[in-house]
Amino acid sequence: MKIVTAGTGMAAAEFVEQLRLEGFAGEIVMVGDEDCPPYSPCVIPFYLAGEPLDTVYWKGKDFYEKYRVTARLGEPVVQVDQVRQIIHTADGTREDYDRLFFATGSHSWYPRPEWLGIKGVFGFKTLSDMMAIDRYLREEQVSEAVVFGGGFIGVDAALALQTRGLRVSLVHRNTRLLSQMTDEEGGRFATLRLAEKTGMDIRLRTTVEDISHSNGQLTAVRLSDGREIATPLLILSVGVTPNSVPLQGDDKGVLSNEQMLADPSIYTAGDVAVTRHAVNGTSGVYANYPNAMRQARVAARHLLHGDGSYDGSINTTVLRKHIDFPVISAGDFSGEAITYQQGDIWRRVYLVDGMINGYLIIGDTRLSGYLYQHYKDRTRVDGTIRKTISSPRHDGQYREMLGFAAA
Ligand SMILES: Cc1cc2nc3c(=O)[nH]c(=O)nc-3n(C[C@H](O)[C@H](O)[C@H](O)COP(=O)(O)OP(=O)(O)OC[C@H]3O[C@@H](n4cnc5c(N)ncnc54)[C@H](O)[C@@H]3O)c2cc1C
Repeated sequence: MKIVTAGTGMAAAEFVEQLRLEGFAGEIVMVGDEDCPPYSPCVIPFYLAGEPLDTVYWKGKDFYEKYRVTARLGEPVVQVDQVRQIIHTADGTREDYDRLFFATGSHSWYPRPEWLGIKGVFGFKTLSDMMAIDRYLREEQVSEAVVFGGGFIGVDAALALQTRGLRVSLVHRNTRLLSQMTDEEGGRFATLRLAEKTGMDIRLRTTVEDISHSNGQLTAVRLSDGREIATPLLILSVGVTPNSVPLQGDDKGVLSNEQMLADPSIYTAGDVAVTRHAVNGTSGVYANYPNAMRQARVAARHLLHGDGSYDGSINTTVLRKHIDFPVISAGDFSGEAITYQQGDIWRRVYLVDGMINGYLIIGDTRLSGYLYQHYKDRTRVDGTIRKTISSPRHDGQYREMLGFAAA
């Protein structure tokens, strides 16, 4: 049997590794649009912040040799012929397959794609983006930057650049940073504390409307409030879109069943896959690393053994990079809200029918495993949760587990 992957990212690397570890000895071809070993996008901001490049190659730089893979790199897949079981690449060549693993992830969405033609304007999504920014910082001695987009990736970008020594302005259209992973009050708390801790210039309810350049070099950005910021560097991190066009002609993501199959000979996983939420059952793209790993393993197992099924995705988000101020959330922010705040720590749990419907923890990670487990397992916690999250020593979960009686 010949197995082909479209994509050489986290899901594809995990899938291939599982196949080989479980004894698959047949032919594997990986086709990717970037020319590099598999890397972790989660780690690439650390590289930009100053860590060595090799730390991004999460399964080793020798991945293709180690797992006996024919790698076709720098060749974007442009079309999948599902009937004849052939993929077509941009240079006009083709690759037939018995089974295809379609894991092309997502790409940045750009409000004005033509801005990328101006020197000093970059996306923040791929290793190629990071290397281009790194080169630019070294060559041009850049000391300040504007990041447009204050979601998870934009905040990651701003913190990485600041760690690298730049002065950063962060421009975000919403009322708070991290708006998709926080509720209003928690997001405002996180934004305020991030501003205090980093000294970053944060502009909310604002967008980048236009840019100025001289001889093709960025000189300034103009904001929606009319003000201008002089800068030689603009990072665009406004949103991402699934790379599902080559398979189905649209960018809505690839619908998979519980075996991660999109059709009888095509598996899918990762940021391009549409899956069911493990708790609320809603279909969607749940783009994070743990979901991608579990989906890839289910696909490999099913391909080799014909069994196993995916138990659903969780929309967990963990921002914990560059500074000691984590923001962690999961689930839906609706139901009865129970909140605790002390100093830099802010915790909120939403309860529905006595069970956790969603949670948000800021400034502290100690309860994240506990809340995640109870959220996923649908445990009733209404009798204890208030005490657990408001333990002044932050060890309420251990005391509860050990059976401590209320004082
Ligand atoms: C800056 C950044 C930070 C992140 N931080 C975190 C984090 O802290 N925690 C977390 O859980 N998640 C994080 N994520 C998300 C996480 O990286 C993804 O969920 C994960 O990588 C998904 O794996 P994937 O294989 O679907 O996609 P990717 O790892 O992005 O791989 C997709 C692959 O497909 C290739 N490709 C795309 N189009 C084509 C095409 N047409 N033909 C051939 N190949 C193609 C790409 O080059 C790439 O090799 C972060 C993402 C980014 C960008």
